[in-house]
Order: sequence, then structure tokens, then C-alpha cells
Amino acid sequence: MRVVVDYDKCTGLGLCESLAPDFFEVADDGSLNLLRAEADEAQRSELEEAVRACPTEALRIEG
Ligand code: SF4
Repeated sequence: MRVVVDYDKCTGLGLCESLAPDFFEVADDGSLNLLRAEADEAQRSELEEAVRACPTEALRIEG
């Protein structure tokens, strides 16, 4: 499964970082770094939580 970020929608609030810090890191300037795009099945629930929590619907999971 892959994590996909729509950077045009992301506002850098960092909720995804607090829920899934292995995947997301918000830099000091508010830009989002995707630390890894590929995820194991075991990480699906963690990622789904981050997707749900994103206030701008900038995240999605493929696969
Ligand atoms: S929660 Fe959404 S808007 Fe906030 S940093 Fe993550 S992807 Fe961007």
C-alpha cells in the first residue's frame, strides 16, 4: 500500500505527524515531508487514522 499526499491541499498543521510519525514530518516552514511512501499491511490502521484526521483531506491510501 502507498501513501499519497496532495501537497496543494496540505496546510502543514501536522495532525498526520502526531498520529503517524514514521511517515510524516512537518518542517519548521510548515512544509510536509513524506518520510516513506510504502507501508506494510500492519500499518494500515495507523495510516487510516492519519487520513481521517487530516482537516484538508490531503492524504489518501492506495492499494
Ligand atoms: S494533517 Fe493534512 S494538512 Fe496537516 S500536515 Fe498532514 S497532510 Fe498536511
